[in-house]
Amino acid sequence: MKIRTGFVSNSSSSSYVCYVCGEAETVYDGNLSESGLMECEEGHVFCDSHALEYVPEKKVFTFEEKKRMVLERACENLGFGENQVEAWERFNAKPDEEIEKMWEEEDWEEYDEELEGEDIRCCPICQMTEYNTDEALHFLMLDNGLSKKDLLENMKASFSTYQDMANHLKANPLRT
Ligand SMILES: [Zn+2]
Ligand SMILES: [Zn+2]
Repeated sequence: MKIRTGFVSNSSSSSYVCYVCGEAETVYDGNLSESGLMECEEGHVFCDSHALEYVPEKKVFTFEEKKRMVLERACENLGFGENQVEAWERFNAKPDEEIEKMWEEEDWEEYDEELEGEDIRCCPICQMTEYNTDEALHFLMLDNGLSKKDLLENMKASFSTYQDMANHLKANPLRT
């Protein structure tokens, strides 16, 4: 544990807004996770409750790669006095099915890809399972050929006051 000897005024705090839900969080000394936030490689900061779970991908090996791995490991595990070259040739002469079987019986955990916890696979924005409100608005306006002015004029044409529009929006929440 880090023991802070300075005064509280020494710690720097900054405010972050979740890119997904817009909630603001205070972050101390740049420690996002302490405040329940995560940041993806693209710089999206979001509440860790929005983070996607992902199963680390297993690398797929070709038969040639498997064979080399099996042979190398078999030669590493030779008993005292056994000849590595002879052993290599002996294993190399085995039929493919036997190599495949040897490969399956071994544990190759250290070859599994180690994946970072905070990469874009965790990010609901990057995976497009959630959207950022500003980006969604931008997308919709472009998609409908609307300028800012067009949008405001449409609003004014539909509602006589801001309060009318606000009430209408409140009464009709976004569908999920
Ligand atoms: Zn959030
Ligand atoms: Zn992202």
